[in-house]
Amino acid sequence: MKRENRIVAYFSMEICLDERVPTYSGGLGILAGDTIRSAANLKIPMVAISLLYRNGYFSQKLDEKGRQTEESLEWVVQDFLVECPERVTVTIEGRDVQVRAWKYKIFSESGFIVPVFLLDTDLPENSEEDRKLTHQLYGGDQRYRLCQEAILGIGGVRMLRALGYHQLTRFHMNEGHSSLLTLELLDESKKKRLSVDITKEDIHSVKSLCVFTTHTPVDAGHDKFPMDLVKQVLGYRSVFDMKDVFCCEGILNMTYLALNLSHYVNGVAKKHGEVTQLMFANYSIHAITNGVHLPSWTSPSFQKLFDQYIPGWRSDNYSLRYALNIARTEIWKSHLKAKEELLQYVKQETNTDLDMDCLTIGFARRSTPYKRADLLLTDLDRLIEIVKKSGKIQIIYAGKAHPQDEEGKQIIQKIFQAIKFLKEKIKIVYLENYDIALGKLMTSGVDVWLNTPKRPLEASGTSGMKSAVNGVPSLSILDGWWVEGCIEGITGWAIGNSSEQVGHDEADDLYDKLENVILPLFYHDRDGFIEVMTHCIALNGSFFNTNRMMHQYVLNAYFL
Ligand SMILES: *Cc1c(COP(=O)(O)O)cnc(C)c1O
Repeated sequence: MKRENRIVAYFSMEICLDERVPTYSGGLGILAGDTIRSAANLKIPMVAISLLYRNGYFSQKLDEKGRQTEESLEWVVQDFLVECPERVTVTIEGRDVQVRAWKYKIFSESGFIVPVFLLDTDLPENSEEDRKLTHQLYGGDQRYRLCQEAILGIGGVRMLRALGYHQLTRFHMNEGHSSLLTLELLDESKKKRLSVDITKEDIHSVKSLCVFTTHTPVDAGHDKFPMDLVKQVLGYRSVFDMKDVFCCEGILNMTYLALNLSHYVNGVAKKHGEVTQLMFANYSIHAITNGVHLPSWTSPSFQKLFDQYIPGWRSDNYSLRYALNIARTEIWKSHLKAKEELLQYVKQETNTDLDMDCLTIGFARRSTPYKRADLLLTDLDRLIEIVKKSGKIQIIYAGKAHPQDEEGKQIIQKIFQAIKFLKEKIKIVYLENYDIALGKLMTSGVDVWLNTPKRPLEASGTSGMKSAVNGVPSLSILDGWWVEGCIEGITGWAIGNSSEQVGHDEADDLYDKLENVILPLFYHDRDGFIEVMTHCIALNGSFFNTNRMMHQYVLNAYFL
């Protein structure tokens, strides 16, 4: 088949399209957006499918004690998207639910377009309840979620056909939420053969079309539905009795459905690939390490610097290797500009004056126990001692807890208590409403990016990649991408090592690194510190990007 006829359909429960459009909650959606932007840059023929989410993902408010409340984010769909005339139906609980699509176009600099279609059931033809099915991202109960996944997977394939996409050669499931698309493809294959039953032949042909990326080793991240609910929502299908498709007794496990019907399955970092292989021993699991779309995540000051020294870096990300040739004074100047912008934002939001000369540590991610936002605050007296001995630090935090994650909410309150306790000695701020705009400011404006997940639960992580291209080194647990990205003392610093037994005191390691390595380097060998910053860009910016990632998907998964 000619290359221009080979189109990849990319399915994701969330996709980040624009700063002002709240159709994403975090890492998964941001990766999806960056993936599509790189596909456009590289002229990879692709079309993407997700849901509309009129109510958006929430905006976070924190009171003086750090108690989180959530507000829904209104946005005007017509300001960003164009309605398509096509309609398809998905049968849910025996009702024919009408689905429409809204189109968004991702443009590359050269004008190549990747269209994105967001599915929407909010139509007058549908019942009140069905109209709400595509309103909320990760809201509602199991039934609500299963209905959404039926619309995404089954409705998505039908909508693509209605839109005229008959030549799709790959269906890429970005996480298991969309794996019901395989049922629609099985039906299509069966019909094509004019057969009544789904056979091995259909399974084989669907497998050759499907690619599956799994994103987390955390069990709760793998959707499971009781078969009774599945039958109630989707109606009975003979495929439910096929053991090589529905392998788990009594439940539909979306991950296994995708595993059983894909010819290529991957984790999102080398280490995560290995961990996933252990979880699913009977399947062959590959690894393609995540990345970030560099032009989107590079601060204005570094964009200008790269344009001057490395023209063409936006499309040829590998050329960032030549950051090694950039004058070190220029790298420092660009960093200070980004830092100034962040500190101004902090002043505006919290009325706190942070110090441009003080080592600034950044930590921002979804607040949930395994991410351990409070590891740095394990021993506050020790932290005070370190600052006295080795030099000042200030800390900038951000992160939303999922509305139902009580433990995640508690962690934010614990940080607020530490902020009070350390008030005179160490300045700490917690910024509200972590989103991509704040993500850009923080990953580029701090001096050190901290990440302290519990191993091996961080599948990849991407915020450290954003900081790397902005010359901000990471101090991180050796998990996810950092296993590949960390060259000790060259691109940043590890907390602990990758082979330690559980129970090892990682907080202790974190404090040791700060006290004996990072603070002395920052305050007494600034040239050495800037050398690390430069290596971040040259070694990690040039590799941990979605252009390289898409090259690997094309070579290994899409166009074999
Ligand atoms: C990059 C980003 C994430 C994902 O980063 P992790 O390192 O995986 O936590 C989540 N939320 C926002 C707003 C981001 O910018």
